[in-house]
Amino acid sequence: MTETVRTTCPYCGVGCGVLARPTAEGVDIAGDPDHPANHGRLCSKGSALGETVGLEGRLLNPQIRGRRVAWFKALDEVAAGFHQAIQDYGPDSVAFYVSGQLLTEDYYVANKLMKGFIGSANIDTNSRLCMSSAVAGHVRAFGEDVVPGNYEDLHRAELIVLVGSNMAWCHPIVFRRIREAQANGARLVVIDPRRTATAGEADIHLPIESGSDAVLFNGLLTFLESNGGIDYEYLEAHTQGFGAALKAARDSAGSIPRVAGQCGVREEDVAAFYRAFLRTDQVVTVFSQGINQSSSGTDKVNAIINCHLIGGRVGKPGSGPFSITGQPNAMGGREVGGLASTLAAHSGFDAADDVQRFWDSPVIAREPGLKAVDLFDAVADGRIRAIWIMATNPVVSLPNADRVRQALKDCPLVVVSDVTRNTDTATWADILLPAAAWGEKDGTVTNSERRISRQRPFREPPGEAKPDWWIIAQVADRLGFRQAFDYPGPAAIFDEHARLSALPRDRQPAFNIAGLAGLDRAAYDALAPVQWPYPEGALAGTDRLFADGRFATPDGRAALVAATPRRPAHERDEHYPLALNTGRVRDHWHTMTRTGLSPTLSAHIDEPIVAVHPRDCRRHGLTDGAMARLSTRWGTLVVRVEASTDQMPGSVFMPIHWSDQYASSARVGSLVNPAVCAVSGEPELKHTPANLEPAPMAWYGFLFTRGGVEAKPLDYWVRVTGQAFTRFELAGRERPADWSSWTRSLLGARDPDADWLEYQDSRAGRYRAAWLVNERMHACFFAAPTTELPARRWLSALFGREALNEAERTSLLMGRPADPAADSGPVVCSCFGVGRNTIVEAVREQGLASVEAVGECLQAGTNCGSCIPEIRGLLS
Ligand code: SF4
Repeated sequence: MTETVRTTCPYCGVGCGVLARPTAEGVDIAGDPDHPANHGRLCSKGSALGETVGLEGRLLNPQIRGRRVAWFKALDEVAAGFHQAIQDYGPDSVAFYVSGQLLTEDYYVANKLMKGFIGSANIDTNSRLCMSSAVAGHVRAFGEDVVPGNYEDLHRAELIVLVGSNMAWCHPIVFRRIREAQANGARLVVIDPRRTATAGEADIHLPIESGSDAVLFNGLLTFLESNGGIDYEYLEAHTQGFGAALKAARDSAGSIPRVAGQCGVREEDVAAFYRAFLRTDQVVTVFSQGINQSSSGTDKVNAIINCHLIGGRVGKPGSGPFSITGQPNAMGGREVGGLASTLAAHSGFDAADDVQRFWDSPVIAREPGLKAVDLFDAVADGRIRAIWIMATNPVVSLPNADRVRQALKDCPLVVVSDVTRNTDTATWADILLPAAAWGEKDGTVTNSERRISRQRPFREPPGEAKPDWWIIAQVADRLGFRQAFDYPGPAAIFDEHARLSALPRDRQPAFNIAGLAGLDRAAYDALAPVQWPYPEGALAGTDRLFADGRFATPDGRAALVAATPRRPAHERDEHYPLALNTGRVRDHWHTMTRTGLSPTLSAHIDEPIVAVHPRDCRRHGLTDGAMARLSTRWGTLVVRVEASTDQMPGSVFMPIHWSDQYASSARVGSLVNPAVCAVSGEPELKHTPANLEPAPMAWYGFLFTRGGVEAKPLDYWVRVTGQAFTRFELAGRERPADWSSWTRSLLGARDPDADWLEYQDSRAGRYRAAWLVNERMHACFFAAPTTELPARRWLSALFGREALNEAERTSLLMGRPADPAADSGPVVCSCFGVGRNTIVEAVREQGLASVEAVGECLQAGTNCGSCIPEIRGLLS
């Protein structure tokens, strides 16, 4: 295949269209100008997709307990293990833990096997961790899990409220729409405890206390009620539950001073937000993990939806609550019923008979299964005897992750199907199954605005990797269900999925894609991005839901829900006085199994720091850049401190991405409390009481190498992928007696005649060494007793030289670049590799005063635009 293939980005829920053109070296990537989600744009992650499709780290063959086996043997063993557990302990003794990375067709087959043929609903997805509170909130308010809005609404909105979302980093292409709306006069309110890149672009930023969102929106409800902000006609005709919702709001929030006090923000800012909402007809409230990942996440979602319903700001262009999904196919998983709390095709377990008839299945799950956190608890206590984990890494991402790791260690049968050979979860697999990756997979995904797009392959799976749907169907066959899983390909699965969506039920859900049933292979291949609903006979999908004020509830009315604000399940106390918040960074994705391979993406934020307000640094005796012990009741990590006034005092932030594969001690999931929302089961990943104390180190250092390092216990290490080298950030509690031999042994350098440059100041405790091979840099190592070490960027550049000149050799011994301008500083613009120092210097020296001027001068920010908020921050 050499022609350009239209496909979809495999990262976030924006669902950008991608043009992929295979080349001899890999694949060229560009945004698809015809895709309605992105109109040709891609963010830094999407733009760097070509750097993540190599075979490094790929799982290429089936394995049983570490030994390569043939596919038939691995599949026989999976089926036998599941069969035995079901026979001995019943269908609820087995489970699937699946992922928003799966395609809809994969998801459909997994859900059908578990619920219709094994007869259990113990299939849950990692989407439970990011948007199940939104799902539950939608069901309570609208009668069905429906996101009513679409991206075009952001262009039409006059006020955009972003709650719990660092969209500039996490959904950059949608955020660019918001910036355009701002340029056309829309106002932006950002509600987030941190001053994020997104908050920096806001007209009003409300840095509310962690967990106080429901108070803020209940306060808005009472404010609107007291100030003529209720559309009584709409309320009367299309909703129910207003009285109870208003009472709960009055009881918990009340006046603006009371709200401001509870939320820890200024009264005038709360008043400005409330007045803006009151005076604006076209308001879109976008919410994401900051709302959902809470022990009261569903109530927070409904507190937001209530405020839209009372003013009739739903189902109208430019208006509505808008849940943005984290993963590329979280929505597709919801459509097929991949959550343990639904059955299939947006139907609950009351439709079990209908679905069983459709599937012609021997059994059917009749009640919800275990949600993610409960599911792994059941693995831990032995109720689940066989688990199959598909395309996800729960040992990193789930709360109380060390318990998850122990549970897998003790589980009689753990099957993992994945793309990557070595993950923190794959380590505990009895059976490893190689799955096809992005670029090899063939199917559909649905983005945050209910738009179904094709993910098309542009190359064959390497080794023995197979599509997930094929692997599941093969196991189903071995369990005795050949006929029901005998699919010739993904088009047939999609057809069945589409037909199931139109199954006559007591109440027909809005999710109906019967108009897409019956596509032959060619039509399926050619399927253009389309929004649902797409019922039979439709000429196009529907971009506007609830325009007629009729909802998917039995009486057609939307429900206002009495939302009672609750504090986080675990409060801070004298032992754990800080609130640990977790989230994403701009250029990494989930557990870095792909983005960790990209030098470009690894250059932005390269270390798993804990961000701490300077006041808390002083209070806890911490130094910016030094190590600290971050502990909670669930675990302890040793991490580097980053003092940041973007943090509120009393709270700290740590990214979710780093695993044991990339760092000695950075799985933040191991610190997170396992409390969940009682309605949705979504964990409280945004608030865990924590403590910080210094973790003194005798030395700090870093190592660059073209080769590997020989295993050696190191107190602190982080691995960073670079262009032509790997970098390690290091620290140790004890200084080696002999730096020179320690460094050689770490690098496995045994040739006594090798070309080494070395500098040692024993009194100051400084050591620098470089190993050259044929005049080229092969490795270098720098150590010091403090964090005062040379900048890293200019050293990266030396790895690009064919031969070092004398000045460069001297600079290695001096520990500073021969030309100071060579140190461009930490990367801001990933696309063009423009560093912070370069931008700051150009702003100062050339008097650049705008993002556009910086772009014109340095190119920074002119491609994907993900770095524009940071450039604006530097300018200001
Ligand atoms: Fe991919 Fe970025 Fe688009 Fe998300 S915003 S789908 S990560 S290109």
